[in-house]
Amino acid sequence: MNFIQKNIQSIQKNIPKGVTLIAVSKTHPVEFIQQAYDAGQRVFGENKIQELTAKHEQLPKDIQWHMIGHLQRNKIKYIAPFVHLIHGVDDFKKLIEINKQAKKNERVIECLLQIKIAQEDTKFGLSMDDALEIIHSKELLELENLVIKGFMGMASFTDNTEQVKQEFASLSEFHQKTIALQNERFSPTILSMGMSSDYLLAIEQGSTMVRVGSAIFGNRNYDI
Ligand SMILES: *Cc1c(COP(=O)(O)O)cnc(C)c1O
Repeated sequence: MNFIQKNIQSIQKNIPKGVTLIAVSKTHPVEFIQQAYDAGQRVFGENKIQELTAKHEQLPKDIQWHMIGHLQRNKIKYIAPFVHLIHGVDDFKKLIEINKQAKKNERVIECLLQIKIAQEDTKFGLSMDDALEIIHSKELLELENLVIKGFMGMASFTDNTEQVKQEFASLSEFHQKTIALQNERFSPTILSMGMSSDYLLAIEQGSTMVRVGSAIFGNRNYDI
């Protein structure tokens, strides 16, 4: 077993059964992904549409590809034929485009609303109020080729564990409250939060899906 396979095995041991591990492979070569695949990993995340599309073409077709990065509306068409889950939806116009492209591909695409929970200004995402507005909207009911499966959040980049914990807790609480709002377009079974440095904390606060990159593949040469 190489280091990638060992890392995946030890992380899988740390996380409960109901939590999905997304191996975040951005910037890493397809050979690394293939090694993770050979160890049984089937769920991968990328944050750039071009890279995601290229890797999808080169790798086994039973991989579930997650788009975890900031979404550009005009590029959604490239991933619509195959993407498994889109994490970073942060406005209604993107939902309209996802629905349009899903329809063209005769698919129903699952996505998550990205909620801003960090104190920093740099993180993308909707406020909880804006997310509620989308969830309650009549227009959402017309988007028959998508389902909002829950929420994604990124905590502040800080050593302050208490702050990170509180940010995760606030999203978890929001998630719980929205379960009562379930309808055909909104079925919030997924809470995507937690990365290499904080995934155990995120799971303690109710995360069902962790996005782990460097703890599996090592440091990225350049950060994007
Ligand atoms: C890169 C990235 C991750 C993984 O980060 P690590 O710290 O390497 O685990 C998780 N989520 C998003 C949205 C990312 O862009």
